[in-house]
Amino acid sequence: MAVERTLSIIKPDATRRNLTGKINQRFEDKGLRIIAQKRLALSRAQAEQFYAVHRERGFFNDLVKFMTSGPVVVQVLEGDNAVAANREIMGATNPANAAPGTIRKDFAESIEANSVHGSDSADNARAEIAFFFSGIELCP
Ligand code: ATP
Ligand code: MG
Repeated sequence: MAVERTLSIIKPDATRRNLTGKINQRFEDKGLRIIAQKRLALSRAQAEQFYAVHRERGFFNDLVKFMTSGPVVVQVLEGDNAVAANREIMGATNPANAAPGTIRKDFAESIEANSVHGSDSADNARAEIAFFFSGIELCP
């Protein structure tokens, strides 16, 4: 199995409920290492840029509003097949469809306030990691 990196974001609904530690535990229990992490407040421009692929979607403005409604924790997770492994730990976008034991099943409030983001491909992971972190901030 290939060691990969993926970008994770603990979203404002989760930081508001003090769930950072519980969510990080899920990653570490499944063998992913948190090799970089910081808490920050996204500006509107940063949230729009990060979610630019969804610009034409009906939920885009609400999504940007939600992602700027409170602090987020951005982090780089490293491990075997980290991109797919994290998507599995997160569960489906809509918590109503998420499998038992996933973060979104257990913590998400709605399809929008769904507690976590995870990169959906190795290429997007590279771009998303570079969006938030410089090389010196990654500590494998
Ligand atoms: P993420 O990219 O955050 O990891 P995802 O890849 O599972 O989630 P995407 O389709 O990329 O889902 O959507 C990005 C985010 O936009 C979702 O996580 C959710 O917060 C929000 N979103 C997606 N679909 C809807 C919707 N139908 N209504 C409201 N918000 C939505
Ligand atoms: Mg996505």
